[in-house]
Amino acid sequence: MDNIVYDVIIIGAGASGLICARECARGGLRTLVLEKEQTPGRKILATGNGRCNLTNKNVSPVFYHGDNKLVSSALTQFSYLVCHRYFEQLGVLLTEEENGRIFPATSKATAVLEPLKLAVRESGAQLLTGQYVSHIKGRKPFSIFTSNGTHFQARRIVLACGSCAYPQIGGTNSGYELAHAVGHTIITPHPTLSGLVTKEDLSRLVGIRAQVKLQVQETQTQGEIIFTNYGINGPAALNASGVISRALKNGNITVSLNFLPEIEDIPTFLSARLKAFSNRRPKDFFAGILHESVANLLIDFKGLRKNKPLQEQSPEAIKNAFETIGAWPVTVTALRPWSEAMVAAGGVNTREINYNTFESLCCPGVYLTGELLDVDGISGGFNLHFAWASGFIAASSLIKENKL
Ligand SMILES: Cc1cc2nc3c(=O)[nH]c(=O)nc-3n(C[C@H](O)[C@H](O)[C@H](O)COP(=O)(O)OP(=O)(O)OC[C@H]3O[C@@H](n4cnc5c(N)ncnc54)[C@H](O)[C@@H]3O)c2cc1C
Repeated sequence: MDNIVYDVIIIGAGASGLICARECARGGLRTLVLEKEQTPGRKILATGNGRCNLTNKNVSPVFYHGDNKLVSSALTQFSYLVCHRYFEQLGVLLTEEENGRIFPATSKATAVLEPLKLAVRESGAQLLTGQYVSHIKGRKPFSIFTSNGTHFQARRIVLACGSCAYPQIGGTNSGYELAHAVGHTIITPHPTLSGLVTKEDLSRLVGIRAQVKLQVQETQTQGEIIFTNYGINGPAALNASGVISRALKNGNITVSLNFLPEIEDIPTFLSARLKAFSNRRPKDFFAGILHESVANLLIDFKGLRKNKPLQEQSPEAIKNAFETIGAWPVTVTALRPWSEAMVAAGGVNTREINYNTFESLCCPGVYLTGELLDVDGISGGFNLHFAWASGFIAASSLIKENKL
């Protein structure tokens, strides 16, 4: 142990911890970051398939689950424009892709992480890796113990430990344990931004992509789904997974897939098509509007007779098939496990956090940021945005507090 009492020790050198460290040090605080992995920001490197979708032009509380008031406060203080300017000032050239998603222009996550690490170093913050914080004792100063027997002291601490998602690149329960130890309640984390495991055997469709509207309870997502050997993946499925993750607590949940997402009035559209093509066999009738394998499954599923033209099928079977195209029911029994879930739903109860500062209401002097909190966004850059925002705001609060 050194005898220094740091102004602030940040536990975790991920997205929220790194930005927090840089801002604290720039604000004149003696800052130390402790990271359990040998390299900081491992998760950042994995984001956006290695391209790092770091924020979104349309960032807004509607794209988050969890505490609307906390998210609103975070986004008011650290908006999309602030975030964009922040990374430009770090020297990162940014580019916009569809749906407002922002990436580094090089399409490499290193183009975000490296400038951020450099900025942390230039700010004067100290960063130690291979330091797993196992427990915290005392209050102002706090004593911070690592599993290799080292001990540090700080007047304030920031828990920026992230969630337990993706353990293979550092996701851990450790943040929940540390937060619980200082008095917080933890809303049991569940995987989200993860594939949907279905009860129905969809293996005939493995690898097929389809544009759909996916309806679950009051929520609708639109975009591509990909059929897999366990069920459904793809952006529309991932973006519904936050709602599904919560709903699954009460048992299996039915979602419905609309395979004609661009058609406003499906019954009218299909009736007109039936008039035009009633002499066609079902397979030929659906050609041009449905993927062949989806059409074949529908035909089998709804008992249409393969070799008869539509005009010779029972009206009931046709009605059933047409209804199913617009609302194909699928039963979700689970989400894919933590090793495939990009984000955790659940975490530290945000009612125990000061909305304006991210300071703990249970243990003054402790700040909590990022995915450790019970806030999760849909896919599109929203989770990193919240991590940057909360780290930045916690640092601003720590600096203000230090001046008092
Ligand atoms: C595969 C994948 C792809 C993703 N893609 C995107 C994307 O494109 N856009 C987006 O917005 N979000 C994406 N996310 C989510 C995003 O990465 C996270 O929401 C974000 O990194 C959370 O930041 P954080 O600072 O809270 O936690 P993290 O970035 O996870 O950082 C936490 C850090 O704390 C360290 N730590 C934990 N416990 C301890 C301890 N006891 N002692 C010391 N150190 C500790 C960890 O090792 C880690 O380095 C993705 C996630 C994954 C897994």
